[in-house]
Amino acid sequence: MAAPERTRVAVVGGGPAGMVLGLLLARGGIDTVVLEKHPDFLRDFRGDTVHASTLTLLDELGLGSAFAALPHRLLEEAEIQLDAGTVRLADLGRSLPGLHRHVALVPQWDFLEMLADAAAREPHFTLLRSAEVVGLTHDAGRVAGVRWRDYRPPAAEEPRPADHTLAADLVVGCDGRWSAVRVGADLAPRAFGVPVDVEWFRLPRHAGDPDGGVGRLSGSEFMVMIDRGDSWQCGYLIAKGQDEALRAEGLDAFRARLARLQPWLADRLDRAPDRLEDVKLLDVRIERLDTWHRDGLLLIGDAAHPMSPVGGVGINLAIQDAVAASRIVGQWMRRSPGPVPEDVLAAVQRRRLPPTRLVQAFQRLAHRGVVNRALRGALATSPDTLPLPLKLVGRFPLLQRIPARFIAIGPRPEHAPSWARRLERLGPR
Ligand SMILES: Cc1cc2nc3c(=O)[nH]c(=O)nc-3n(C[C@H](O)[C@H](O)[C@H](O)COP(=O)(O)OP(=O)(O)OC[C@H]3O[C@@H](n4cnc5c(N)ncnc54)[C@H](O)[C@@H]3O)c2cc1C
Repeated sequence: MAAPERTRVAVVGGGPAGMVLGLLLARGGIDTVVLEKHPDFLRDFRGDTVHASTLTLLDELGLGSAFAALPHRLLEEAEIQLDAGTVRLADLGRSLPGLHRHVALVPQWDFLEMLADAAAREPHFTLLRSAEVVGLTHDAGRVAGVRWRDYRPPAAEEPRPADHTLAADLVVGCDGRWSAVRVGADLAPRAFGVPVDVEWFRLPRHAGDPDGGVGRLSGSEFMVMIDRGDSWQCGYLIAKGQDEALRAEGLDAFRARLARLQPWLADRLDRAPDRLEDVKLLDVRIERLDTWHRDGLLLIGDAAHPMSPVGGVGINLAIQDAVAASRIVGQWMRRSPGPVPEDVLAAVQRRRLPPTRLVQAFQRLAHRGVVNRALRGALATSPDTLPLPLKLVGRFPLLQRIPARFIAIGPRPEHAPSWARRLERLGPR
């Protein structure tokens, strides 16, 4: 495909925020190009959770059946296993309103590919894969487009330069926690101290293993496990900066830690993880921009507010940002040609800042009150000695509605603008 030279909206990054934004704007008749630096969506684990509010959004977009056809698993409760027993933290099945009383677990690449398929049917949508944005262009102080590098294999008959410029009325940075757009716009996020990092790896899943998600806390060790069908995606928490010390202990010592923590895993730990190189360090961060926009530029999702994986809510928050941005910006662009005034972009931030602040505050509290104390061995692991909020939630099932709604729906869920909605013929799912 020849490189486009001009569009109304250039969306940088084809993650959850970028793909949803691209699809919704294109359905509004707004020419939108999404630039994604990877050739596909197959990359390191970045979370598989699709929350109840996103499932409702998919229904609004007429994509409920397409999603239901993807191989997925349902998470209906969240619990934490202690040495003295299991504490249920959230019962989604009983606590949530509406049709979707669960969080779905689906490989992120399948989910993004489904959005890409839906978007490809829109004449106003273009997805450029292997297209890495390397800078912004300016016109009289306004951001006026992007410079991008084309990594697609050249077609023999069409030799093409590797570098291109795409002019746009609006650039939206959806390029994640290490956002190049953010750096290019000279915007620096405020960082909130985080006491933990996470080691991510996979283990085989056997018949008879539990379903869904498992959180396990014992002594000073803490691990979450996410059911991915034939494998477990495991996150082993360590105090920040302890990665080198952990690796110095060697593979056998790491496997022994896992066997101590979850003895039922022992039958596979002689083979997995295969090498310490397969255990990937996630440098956990919580950051937030004070200003999410410049003239001609908006940042949303992790590009505006990198999230901790605690609570598994980053994908949902990024998608909710995209829906709000499409509605606010789309409403203006459908009526008016040319660049989007900065006060319209500021309205997106005004809408999405309060839920972002709230979720990040919850994550910081969880880091301090639970995770950090657990890693210091300061949380005796019996239900009676848990922090008060967890104790209350464990004891009084009605209170489980609060974390259930907070995690599965989130504060201020967003709904698709009318122009993006599609009815689908309902049949058995
Ligand atoms: C290991 C890990 C586990 C996580 N687990 C969960 C979980 O279980 N549930 C959950 O809700 N959240 C989880 N998160 C957080 C979640 O992944 C993010 O909050 C969410 O993906 C943010 O979406 P986004 O679209 O803003 O950014 P991203 O998902 O980061 O997408 C950014 C996209 O931009 C592309 N890109 C980057 N730079 C450029 C460039 N210069 N040019 C073009 N394209 C570019 C990237 O390739 C990527 O596709 C996890 C994060 C990590 C790292």
